[in-house]
Amino acid sequence: MTVMVPSRTPALITPGRQALDSALFQLDQAAAQLGLDDGLRTMLATPRRSLTVSVPVRREDGRMDVVQGFRVQHNVSRGPAKGGIRFHPGTDIYEVTALAMWMTWKCALVGIPYGGAKGGVSVDPTALTTRELERLTRRYVNEILPLIGPEKDIPAPDVGTDEQTMAWIMDTYSVNAGYSVPGVVTGKPMTLGGSLGRAGATSRGVQIAALSALGRSPDGVTVAVQGFGKVGALAAQYLSDAGCKVVAVSDVSGAVYNANGLDVAELRANGIAAYRDADALGLDELLELDVDILVPAALEGAITLENAPRIRARLIVEGANGPTTPEADEILTDAGTTIVPDILANAGGVIVSYLEWVQNMQAYSWSANEVEVKLRDLMEGAFGEVKSTAAERGITLRQAAHVIGVGRVAEAHQMRGLYP
Ligand code: GLU
Repeated sequence: MTVMVPSRTPALITPGRQALDSALFQLDQAAAQLGLDDGLRTMLATPRRSLTVSVPVRREDGRMDVVQGFRVQHNVSRGPAKGGIRFHPGTDIYEVTALAMWMTWKCALVGIPYGGAKGGVSVDPTALTTRELERLTRRYVNEILPLIGPEKDIPAPDVGTDEQTMAWIMDTYSVNAGYSVPGVVTGKPMTLGGSLGRAGATSRGVQIAALSALGRSPDGVTVAVQGFGKVGALAAQYLSDAGCKVVAVSDVSGAVYNANGLDVAELRANGIAAYRDADALGLDELLELDVDILVPAALEGAITLENAPRIRARLIVEGANGPTTPEADEILTDAGTTIVPDILANAGGVIVSYLEWVQNMQAYSWSANEVEVKLRDLMEGAFGEVKSTAAERGITLRQAAHVIGVGRVAEAHQMRGLYP
């Protein structure tokens, strides 16, 4: 019998392809640790459903552009598929597949009853007007409509999408259904059934993970954040609120550094370019600063074979998905660096997405404190499990997180059995 295993020697190695290779490498390591048989490993290496769509978009000048969109459901053994939608020019089917796979392990690791999915459109959202973006979003959702639904597959924000995008998705789905279906997406505005605490959830989770891994007082601990966006900016704020000294932040426009600490609130209010009380820094230099904690919170593949030997932070907390390549991971591990892996460190987002969905399904809402307590419990519980699994097996936190996540999905699959 021939099995469908993604080829590892594509003609063109895109960043997305590299992300998928990283995800497959991590799966292989976990499968070996768990002693999974080849059939099960292959099933977990391949998405259950994968849809590519062409999305026609009417531009303001009347022209029609066509962009590629994707929705991948990697696994649904433990519950409905769950994962964000990314609008980014570099997005391709490989990247979306890798991100969907990471969602599967992430949900299993933190113990929420979902499988993993991801969506994406290869487009630069900053080059579109709001009306173009709305038309694009609605048409893309229409194309993937057969796959999504509150019991099947629940999208959320990711890079390049936000609350407004989620509102358009909720509306498009609801108009098709004939009634309002708030539970079809998470990360919605509060007025449409969003949850208190969802907007800052990923960042809050990064803070919880960072402080758990630090294991000492955060006072004066220095932090550099690569990617001062949705996740990174609030992570910097929460770490600063906890007593850390955020000395450097960057986004696509540039990087700033001040050894005495930056005013994160001012940076969030006015942006990096307007910030005066700091030195400009090269984007690569930020990653290599001598800080206690480095938070990569941008895209995949930021820490590579090339720059890993120069990274001096002793603790890396991955706010982004897939920021460290397997080669870089090995170099850093050998150098004694602790890495809190993406599927643990950034799980706060999907945890509060789950809480939002639960509230939607019961048409009820919880206080900010109830949400925060539940988020903290799940994050700290998962952190403790990863730490003890790593110690018991003598493996890294990333390997341990994958062993737990992959193991739970494999177990669910085996308990259910194979149909037919
Ligand atoms: N896009 C986020 C992630 O990568 C959140 C996904 C969700 O809330 O479903 O974890």
